[in-house]
Amino acid sequence: MAKSFDVAVIGAGPGGYTAAIRAAQLGLSTVCIDEWKNARGKPSLGGTCLNVGCIPSKALLESSENYERALHKFAEHGITVKEVSMDIATMLARKDKIVETFTGGIGLLFRKNKVTSMHGRGRFIGGGIPYQIEVRNAEAAEVIEAKHVIIATGSVPRQLPFAPVDNDRIVDNIGALALAQVPRRLGVIGAGVIGLEMGSVWKRLGSQVTVLEALPGFLQAADEQVAKEALRVFTKVVGLDIRLGVKVGDVKPSKTGVTVEYSVPSGEQKAEFDVLVVAVGRAPQSASLGADTVGLQLDGRGFIKVDGHCRTNLANVYAIGDVVRGPMLAHKSSEEGVAVAETIAGQAGHVNLDTVPWVIYTAPEIAWVGKTEQELKAEGADYRTGQFPFIANGRARAIGETAGFVKMLADAKTDRVLGVHMIGPYASELIAEAVVAMEFGAAAEDIARIVHAHPTLTEALHEAALGVDKRTINL
Ligand code: FAD
Ligand code: AMP
Repeated sequence: MAKSFDVAVIGAGPGGYTAAIRAAQLGLSTVCIDEWKNARGKPSLGGTCLNVGCIPSKALLESSENYERALHKFAEHGITVKEVSMDIATMLARKDKIVETFTGGIGLLFRKNKVTSMHGRGRFIGGGIPYQIEVRNAEAAEVIEAKHVIIATGSVPRQLPFAPVDNDRIVDNIGALALAQVPRRLGVIGAGVIGLEMGSVWKRLGSQVTVLEALPGFLQAADEQVAKEALRVFTKVVGLDIRLGVKVGDVKPSKTGVTVEYSVPSGEQKAEFDVLVVAVGRAPQSASLGADTVGLQLDGRGFIKVDGHCRTNLANVYAIGDVVRGPMLAHKSSEEGVAVAETIAGQAGHVNLDTVPWVIYTAPEIAWVGKTEQELKAEGADYRTGQFPFIANGRARAIGETAGFVKMLADAKTDRVLGVHMIGPYASELIAEAVVAMEFGAAAEDIARIVHAHPTLTEALHEAALGVDKRTINL
């Protein structure tokens, strides 16, 4: 007889593994099915985020930043480092070790919480409650039954038909996180989050990096002022060669490199790269689920259709994370996982997509929450702005990272915070205060009256809040 569970979770990325643990904590018998295999062909929990996304990219960003500090930044502190060298194999091994520790850790968390873990592809083969799901791997296929199903199958890199990824000369995020040598010339198609982070890593390690972006504007999801400052710093200080309004034409790999023909508004161009990274966004991974068998509805782009509570069109079937609408971010995925598990257990689960923080881990970092100024203008909203530059912040000076600013947008009448945007040191950490403030419906005045430790980077947020009422002190 088929094994039977209260909850089957398909996918063990941040969405799926979190949902499975929370469901088990709530007393539901839970299985989590995942098909990911690492480069050595071994099952590896954690999905894109832990295996080839958030975690390994941040490990390499840190290593490459340390290298750059030793090369260019220690001197101003009076520290002389002779013959700085870099061993890429050690750097990659450190990253792999971090990934292994975390992916292995999920197995331990599953055992601790009594989540059954199954390796293989999960596919609906029968509908109704309970649902029948086949779990197939290279060795065997088994059918299980579940009263509730949480689909958390995530996303895969979007492909360009004219630049097929071989993860040798033409790479996606998987290849870009594992280059065995520093390419002399690196091309990146797509100036989104992943393209900019990968471009930053290899630029710091010595590559000449050219980023080819289709859109005429830079980082259009970000606040325009932040995007403008980012483009200035990335091109003038970091040294990325960012071309906008690009139409990529012929891409030809050879034994020694990749030739890319493209056009920009000023004319036709041709470039030769040693490695080309394709980072043009991600597509939902929904094709292998057997959606048709049970009548699960997808939209035209392959996202599973869900309502505000992640309910699909099928009773007791939920979908979360990258495979549904909303930002493709790990924390959005895991919070949806918690909310759905709690809903299944009869509690009131909900995720506020309006206060999901966005972070880009470039140097300087970029982070925001809430509405951008251009969105508020388009809505015709009446708002006030406060802004404070890191150059006037004592801690930023001490760290030696003074580029960027914090900007706060607040309702002109109620003073409620509508959005906070920042580019600067540790913006990824600083944004948390803004998220808490917005979740609690804070006014700019509330933040202005909170005591912020001195000297800290958080004082820039404090000053931006004071700035909303035109009473900044230190500027
Ligand atoms: P995934 O992590 O994609 O996991 C889905 C899992 O389901 C995978 O293991 C997959 O193999 C499995 N699966 C799919 N179909 C089936 C099936 N039929 N049967 C069984 N298993 C299946 N986000 C951030 O918030 N911060 C960051 O810093 C960040 N950095 C990133 C850097 C890079 C280079 C990349 C590529 C992404 C980054 N992201 C980041 C995005 C983040 O990785 C995703 O938003 C997140 O992984 C989505 O989680 P998920 O659980 O929805 O799906
Ligand atoms: P993200 O969605 O953050 O991963 O960013 C992907 C980026 O790739 C976006 O800025 C897109 O505009 C860009 N992009 C998508 N398709 C192409 C293409 N064919 N050529 C260049 N850039 C592209």
